[in-house]
Amino acid sequence: PERLAGMLAAQALRQPHAPALHEGGRDIGYGELWQAVRDTAAQLGALGIRPGDRVAVVGENSLAQICLVFAAGLCDAWIVCLNARLAAREVDQVLGHCGARRAFYTDGVSPDAAAHGARHGALRVPAPAPVGHWLAGPLNQAARPEPVHADGGRQCAALLYTSGTTGRPKGVMLSHRSLLYVAEMSATLRRLVPGDRACGVLPLSHVYGLASVLLGTLHAGACLHLLPRFTPDGLLGALRSGGITILQGVPALYARLLDAAGTPVAPALRFLYAGGSPLTPALKARVEAAFGLPLHNGYGMTETAPTICQTSPDAPRGDTSVGQPIPGVETRIGGGDGEDEGELWVRGPNVMLGYYRDAAQTAAVLRPDGWLNTGDVVRHGAGGALFIVGRTKEVIVRSGFNVYPLEVETLLNEHPRVAQAAVVGRPAAAGDEQVIAFVEARGAADGALAGTLRGWLAGQLAPYKVPAHVVVLAALPAGATGKVLKAALRDIACAPGF
Ligand code: ATP
Ligand code: MG
Repeated sequence: PERLAGMLAAQALRQPHAPALHEGGRDIGYGELWQAVRDTAAQLGALGIRPGDRVAVVGENSLAQICLVFAAGLCDAWIVCLNARLAAREVDQVLGHCGARRAFYTDGVSPDAAAHGARHGALRVPAPAPVGHWLAGPLNQAARPEPVHADGGRQCAALLYTSGTTGRPKGVMLSHRSLLYVAEMSATLRRLVPGDRACGVLPLSHVYGLASVLLGTLHAGACLHLLPRFTPDGLLGALRSGGITILQGVPALYARLLDAAGTPVAPALRFLYAGGSPLTPALKARVEAAFGLPLHNGYGMTETAPTICQTSPDAPRGDTSVGQPIPGVETRIGGGDGEDEGELWVRGPNVMLGYYRDAAQTAAVLRPDGWLNTGDVVRHGAGGALFIVGRTKEVIVRSGFNVYPLEVETLLNEHPRVAQAAVVGRPAAAGDEQVIAFVEARGAADGALAGTLRGWLAGQLAPYKVPAHVVVLAALPAGATGKVLKAALRDIACAPGF
């Protein structure tokens, strides 16, 4: 199949009674899910959705959200997934930018979604079984449909916004073909088979949850155990008694889980995966000790649907490498003259169509010959494995030298009194920048902590890399997927009187 709905239809034909999803204590079979998707598509038509329209779903993980994802594609509309945990201003920015014809809110599983819906005058509308009802916003009469691509695989399936780590989130257009390619790779590289039960705890509104977790699981004909959102207790319960065989998370999720739980009980677990943000050696070791399983790593970005690199489950690594590029995806470092360290470029079926309504930003990263600049600096290790060095946008120029915040953050994160660290640059004298570290303490912080950490870094780093200031905050500002919002920290560091 070259369309998302086609993939689901094929599974429904192959194994109609096998469980596709688990929600609220019951399994939903592939046949039942496919029927619900078809009914939803018919209803979307009746609710004024036309081919080329954007359909927004403001939600948390649920059957209702998943039905809309597949049904929108079936109508040749684009699904726009928004995390209900975003603030009102952030949700409204995205709804305005994408020009959604109508927005739906998964109020059944999410009080936050219900609140966003109420703000937008959404009403309860009956939905096909087994969904029950939707909360549907008003029809936007001003919305203009986009042209539908003649080649079904090239048609845009999803408009997903980036995490906003470095600035305002960008709207990434992903085709059916890109998403299905990553789904297939995700299923095969993770060795998923029917009978597996994957944990659906990462937000499906983010590309990692949508393509790698949801679509990868369904591509394999396995079952996705849905949790509306991450809470340590909810995840521990699912691991203990839900028969979960594979868990995909981000480093922040593992850190919070272990801080809350100590030693989790997960009798059926076979595979553990991290990805989405830097993994430190200390966290990897902690996770592996707690679960008694290797923690695999992967790297990607919204612009590549998302997977670029993945470690092999057959060859667990003792370091924090992100593994090798996935099959079918070309990579090169810098200009491609055999450099060992530099900006990573990617070309392949997983690469986005472009940024929506932003030709300038698209042209800045995506070349006409298909090569995408990731903006991430990587280093080649033995055997072709890649290591993430940092982001080009975050490089701090100090005394004429480049400082990658990731190197300083990794060291800080290894300190027992640090829960989380983030490093940004602050303009100083002409062309020079200061290194500023922000830290969230583990346990109680006292006035001496900042000095202790500076001294500790000074013992391990060249002087130009040592932060001029270490600032201890009660909590670092984070986005809906748990990523630290560096742009907000840069604003603090650059504010007058800092
Ligand atoms: P924005 O583009 O809005 O600033 P973002 O880049 O954080 O936000 P995402 O698309 O969610 O938005 O994240 C992709 C980025 O996350 C990558 O470009 C890379 O910098 C980082 N990343 C992803 N996986 C890993 C990993 N395993 N190790 C280190 N960094 C990673
Ligand atoms: Mg990015």
